[in-house]
Amino acid sequence: MFCAGEFIDNQYTIEGTSLHDRVHTLSENYREDTWQVRAIWLKSEQYKLIGKSDLIESESGQLYPVEYKRGHKGEWDNDELQVCAQALCLEEMTGKTITQGFVYYAHSHQRQLVEISDQLRNEAIATIQSIIQLMQTGQMPKAIYSKRCKGCSLYSQCLPQAVEKVGRYQED
Ligand code: SF4
Repeated sequence: MFCAGEFIDNQYTIEGTSLHDRVHTLSENYREDTWQVRAIWLKSEQYKLIGKSDLIESESGQLYPVEYKRGHKGEWDNDELQVCAQALCLEEMTGKTITQGFVYYAHSHQRQLVEISDQLRNEAIATIQSIIQLMQTGQMPKAIYSKRCKGCSLYSQCLPQAVEKVGRYQED
């Protein structure tokens, strides 16, 4: 998306956008003892991040982000990384340590706890640094065909299997 300036929607991206359109209305309320605020902007100068949150809650003095996702938990850790990135922003903005967050999966109506562990923090920071490098250099990452390509909306532009075959043919 960033290197080639290309983006195509598929069923998953359209459903995701529609879900976020519904939750991205600025509001503040209490649900029993839990303070909730929706659609506020989060940012971090240190990690060069900015984005609109789905939901931030505070309960018993503990602040945490809740990210909405359309499907159910997949086999990748991108949802946890996104929640961790929001936690990093919240920490910088409030000066408080964020120890947890949640992903709410719309299909199953379930919240999954995300512990903001040192390991997840390190993984998120490494991912952020890779993305910054990618955006600074504009260097296209190599297309490597894997299971995640199955749901990728850029498949018809990227053609990772064909690119791999051509690469192997050229090496031969
Ligand atoms: S098709 Fe696969 S390799 Fe290409 S952009 Fe999508 S996930 Fe990445």
